[in-house]
Amino acid sequence: MKISQQDLDICCGPEAFVSQTDIQPVTQPIHQTSLFSYSKFENLCAALANEYSTPVYTRGRNPTMTSVEKKLAALERGEACKLFASGMGAISAAITGLVNQGDHIIFVNQVYSPTIQLAEQLARFGVTFTYLTSGDLEQLQAAIRPETRLIWFESPATMTFKRIDITRVVAIAHEHGILTGIDNTWATPLLQKPITMGVDIVAHSLTKYIGGHSDVIAGAIITRHALLKQIFYRTFLLNGAAIGPMDAWLIERGLRTLSVRLQQQEASALAIGEFLQDHPKVARIYHPAWQEDSPPAETNPLAGYNGLISFTLKNPAYDNVTRFLNALSHFRLGVSWGGFESLAISLQRPENAEQLAAMNLPQGLIRLSVGLEAAQTLIADLEQAFQHV
Ligand SMILES: *Cc1c(COP(=O)(O)O)cnc(C)c1O
Repeated sequence: MKISQQDLDICCGPEAFVSQTDIQPVTQPIHQTSLFSYSKFENLCAALANEYSTPVYTRGRNPTMTSVEKKLAALERGEACKLFASGMGAISAAITGLVNQGDHIIFVNQVYSPTIQLAEQLARFGVTFTYLTSGDLEQLQAAIRPETRLIWFESPATMTFKRIDITRVVAIAHEHGILTGIDNTWATPLLQKPITMGVDIVAHSLTKYIGGHSDVIAGAIITRHALLKQIFYRTFLLNGAAIGPMDAWLIERGLRTLSVRLQQQEASALAIGEFLQDHPKVARIYHPAWQEDSPPAETNPLAGYNGLISFTLKNPAYDNVTRFLNALSHFRLGVSWGGFESLAISLQRPENAEQLAAMNLPQGLIRLSVGLEAAQTLIADLEQAFQHV
């Protein structure tokens, strides 16, 4: 993993808060307040006219949020960031804040499925979409219409972690005057900085690696001021998915240890991959290090990997997947990922073979989120579970 000095300095550098005395807390105070009072009415009026940059009411802005927003914008090399109460709060505010009735959206690569469910809801407001699960760029060219407003993608993709050529997606979009948005939750800004590759909007679920302790739900959007202002006034303030000060503070806490957690989780997931690749009961591994058609590293740099790895069993039947998962004792069964604890899950259900094929997902896929436990303990747990299938 190659993390720059600049990024480490942002994660652990001084807080945005400035104390008036020579005695400073090392973590910033939590501004647990719903509003901010002003001693002069004319100053309150001025603040109300510029809620985008001034604390008035915590549904809009609060200094505890602002501190994290400054750090995330700096890490992504973007102009500005807004925190949200969840990743979906961020994604839905960005998409609905930027598209209009009659617009068309293209989703590329496997995208987090609630994002696609949101797009299905937008049909009620006259917004249409095309979902290209393969990430094929010729298909992307062919899907573009005069009314296409936004191309939204993930790379690495959800569940299979397949990477696409972000630089080329951006080039195709911008040739047609189309905005691009990426859900960068997998990479965090430490492993990939899409804005430096020309992407317009970056979304995060901070619930995963950035929070990192499985104790907070949060999201963020990083983009240019002009786009963020549109999202702020059209949807963020009105949808009301603001993060609470305590949760924003927990995200800043997570940011401080993100680099060390990622390094250990990357190493453990690679060790598990080595173990799985030689295992007679494993059909295939899904992890960016095992992807044969990776995009060129010069134009699509990835500083390293995280703790996610998926694989398929040679016998992908639901009953077999269930036997394997139930035999695990160290990996817990659950949704989400990116925390300290190791988790396992599968999308396989008794009757969903056709549905998985339609989404371009393999049968019997098992996803592991490798936590911070000893890699040897986790490998031993997998080994004993294989004896049940
Ligand atoms: C979890 C997740 C989200 C949604 O985030 P929440 O914080 O759960 O709302 C969005 N995108 C990806 C890739 C995710 O994994």
